[in-house]
Amino acid sequence: MLPEAVMQQASEEMLDWRGTGMSVMEMSHRGPEYTEIATQAEADLRDLLGISDDYAVLFLQGGASSQFSMIPLNFLQEKTAADYVNTGAWSSKAIKEAQRFCQVNVVADAKASKFTCIPPLHEWQVNQDAAYLHYTPNETIHGVEFHDIPQVSSATLVADMSSTLLSRPIDVNRFGLIYAGAQKNIGPAGLCIVIVRRDLIGKTLPGTPTMFDYQIHDKNDSMYNTPATYSWYLAGLVFQWLKQQGGLQAMAEINSRKAAKLYAAIDGSDFYANPVEKSSRSWMNIPFTLVNSELDKTFLQMSAAAGLLTLKGHRDLGGMRASIYNAMPEAGVDRLIDFMMEFERRFG
Ligand code: PMP
Repeated sequence: MLPEAVMQQASEEMLDWRGTGMSVMEMSHRGPEYTEIATQAEADLRDLLGISDDYAVLFLQGGASSQFSMIPLNFLQEKTAADYVNTGAWSSKAIKEAQRFCQVNVVADAKASKFTCIPPLHEWQVNQDAAYLHYTPNETIHGVEFHDIPQVSSATLVADMSSTLLSRPIDVNRFGLIYAGAQKNIGPAGLCIVIVRRDLIGKTLPGTPTMFDYQIHDKNDSMYNTPATYSWYLAGLVFQWLKQQGGLQAMAEINSRKAAKLYAAIDGSDFYANPVEKSSRSWMNIPFTLVNSELDKTFLQMSAAAGLLTLKGHRDLGGMRASIYNAMPEAGVDRLIDFMMEFERRFG
């Protein structure tokens, strides 16, 4: 979901942005109108997350998936190895891509648990020679989330926050780089936000494409080429909406309450189940199964008819998944729980 107020504003400004006679989609990305939009969005994001000038904030394209290769290309520098934690489908993809560039040391692997937990930190086997340590704070498909920043290595910490950024406050200073595809808590698809410490960039591997060099994007204010202008504009509206909601602390309180309710409903029933270890459960993505998978189709049909959409689980896992990002109101989660209880009464 995107916040309804944001879509309302976008629709009002769609044909004519603030009397300019132009849609944002029609503006030159180098013109004064668009520069104002872009600069304001960056300032609001810096404000929300408390990002200092030591960090560049980049509005890139290529999705979070491009970051899987951009990170080793920029961060390996004189090293030949990197540490990766494998907690689910997305960290597995990041690992596979990094293996094209360096020796990947998987410091901890939750595969044996079918990605239902975070391996205990004292078991992590870090490599002292690693250029950086990469992890995925929230695994979107498996619904596994780190609720603390892991402190296990002196290597630069790199985090794929695609499905958790802006769900709560974070201490950006603990990270060398944070990246997030926009299409969860930030805005529509087409944009990937990268927050990177400036002293770490500018030393790419030989042969790195220009578009894969963080420093090029930083020096050009993310306008080395034409950025995803409309997605950037909408992200800016979302940042303003977040500020109006009271910022990330307020979002954290709502998000933790939404998740706690849904897990309580699942755990309190013999009809629904969530396999993830309690301390590692995601606030954002809550996969669940029905006791009898033959009822899945009926559940999806009836929930859709009740206005509860896109609950089908990821194709790799089956079952259901409720993705309850920032824009999902608490009342939406209440409606889902009511529906689930009613469904259980009827079919359980
Ligand atoms: N990482 C995570 C944690 C994700 O959830 C996703 C997308 N769902 C990706 C990476 C890939 O993002 P993109 O499709 O923007 O490349």
